[in-house]
Amino acid sequence: MTNVIKLLPDHVANQIAAGEVVQRPSSVVKELLENSIDANSTDIKLFIKNSGKTLIQVVDNGKGMSFKDARMCFERHATSKISSAKDLFSLNTKGFRGEALSSIAAISHVELKTKTKLDKLGSLIKIEGSEIKLEDSISVSDGTSLAVKNLFFNIPARRNFLKSDTVELRHIIDEFHRVVLAHPKINFSMFHNGNDIFDLRSENFRQRIIHVFGNRMNEKLVPVDENTELLKISGFVGKPEFAKKSRGEQFFFVNQRFIKSSYLNHAVISAFDGLLAPKKIPSYFLNLSVDPNSIDINIHPTKTEIKFDDEPTLYALLRAAVKHSLGQFNIAPVLDFERNSSFDTPYSSNINSFVTPKIEVDPEFNPFNKNESYNFSSTHSDDFYIGINSKSNNKLEPLSEIEFESNSIQSSIFDNDEIKNSNNTFQLLNKYILCKIKSGLMVVDQNRAHQRVLYEGFLKQFTLETPTIQNLLFPLNLNLTSDELKIIKDIEIQLKQTGFSISEYNKDGLFLNAIPVGVKESNVPSIFEELISDIKSEVPNINFSYSDLMAKLIAKSLATQNGKKLTTVEQEFIVNSLFACKEPNLSPSNKRIFITIEISDLDSKFN
Ligand code: ADP
Ligand code: MG
Repeated sequence: MTNVIKLLPDHVANQIAAGEVVQRPSSVVKELLENSIDANSTDIKLFIKNSGKTLIQVVDNGKGMSFKDARMCFERHATSKISSAKDLFSLNTKGFRGEALSSIAAISHVELKTKTKLDKLGSLIKIEGSEIKLEDSISVSDGTSLAVKNLFFNIPARRNFLKSDTVELRHIIDEFHRVVLAHPKINFSMFHNGNDIFDLRSENFRQRIIHVFGNRMNEKLVPVDENTELLKISGFVGKPEFAKKSRGEQFFFVNQRFIKSSYLNHAVISAFDGLLAPKKIPSYFLNLSVDPNSIDINIHPTKTEIKFDDEPTLYALLRAAVKHSLGQFNIAPVLDFERNSSFDTPYSSNINSFVTPKIEVDPEFNPFNKNESYNFSSTHSDDFYIGINSKSNNKLEPLSEIEFESNSIQSSIFDNDEIKNSNNTFQLLNKYILCKIKSGLMVVDQNRAHQRVLYEGFLKQFTLETPTIQNLLFPLNLNLTSDELKIIKDIEIQLKQTGFSISEYNKDGLFLNAIPVGVKESNVPSIFEELISDIKSEVPNINFSYSDLMAKLIAKSLATQNGKKLTTVEQEFIVNSLFACKEPNLSPSNKRIFITIEISDLDSKFN
């Protein structure tokens, strides 16, 4: 029989390896930044064109490479970082597999310029799809510049698979965040299509977080510090009241390497036990230092997952440290003071020496009280009726032209206009509105119902030819980070359509000189915050409508919360307006708004 097994040619092997290391432009960004850090650079610049599809270039001031090394570094398994297997157990560098550059060079056009301090002349190498096209000596400054052009030029399937520019840039920025947060002492800057997006100077961890995520972050951080023999924990967790519904600001760095760990994430979340509103995720920025011997980084090519020797102990230490900080900073539980045992460590642990800090409970604390901007005790609060075709509210004059199609089928469920007469509604637990209907009883979720009413009102308003705006006497200043600004700039036209008019941009944010009628100035920052986080997490597609998203967000921020006592007039207003809506069954986020209990259901209970 003939022999059939052959060794794959190097360029094929490299292309296959590239599939694992390089999924998208952001993977290249990660590998190049890490190489610059490993080269002891103190200043690293990242240049991106067309979200990395055209160019990814990293320029550093690190130790550079000799002429021979410059050639060698593109070979498979070429690394200066380990020399034997035992070095794997005491890693102090990001890289060690020696496959990033060979993989990248297999699937793109690469140009390397590099020089060490000792050399007079540097090297220039150009490679296209693993083939060396040019080798020369040039005069360059100390350090390394690596430019990657036309990524996936020879793998059309991969190239076509890339997402929109917005999405790919988002991935790059996420990767950049991880690297710069892990190394606050290093200067980093980032440019996209010639615009500078980040310019970070050497600083401490807290300052770095603030410079990346904006000044608003400052008041949100609670320091965490714990020093044990096994593990050193430092960093910050976000105060529970600032927790968001979307993921994004959760960072673990183990020995200055960003890692993902659902297990450690669970430890942190469980420390917030009872402090978080439902479905909210707190931010955290936590550095864990452990003995390099006690971890295994080599379980995944991108090295974002690692294995710890003693995970249950880490879990318990981390949970205790975060709990301790929250306790120390007098963060009181929000709603549910009862301990949820499902949050306890899933493994038994023998760290009895850890004292769980006592958390002070403030039984009066109601998270919804904070929302002063929505004071609803007055029956005629403007917010309440806003966006509705309400004759009683003169401010809404332009809206009075909008006629809502009243839904005749839905309104017929009420018995002889019963809702219009008083005393037909009753509020339960400051959360549900109960009302009598022909066939029995209806239970309405007040928050969802009000959201639906406001949402339809605003959607009408936003889809009118000219939005109804209120000009602000003093422009409203919003502090935004540069990548947040980028998101807003991209949708400036859509914002204008909904009545948000931007008068000025500057380095730290923007100024609005008009906002839609019905929106309170004090609600604008949180609306923008949610807008930005929604755009980051939900990738806009063709069917995506900014008017719709804005209407949802504004409705959410203005709607009466569960927990608010409503007068009967308000209760009836909500129910009546709900059934004048086009879609009274579902909230803007597609949740059920009301249920009905039939007389026959009740009768059967008394059998
Ligand atoms: P690894 O980082 O796993 O060693 P790479 O393929 O990323 O593998 O890089 C190969 C080698 O090239 C590195 O070990 C290092 O010696 C050298 N190198 C890469 N980038 C730089 C840089 N920016 N400055 C100096 N040396 C570099
Ligand atoms: Mg590397």
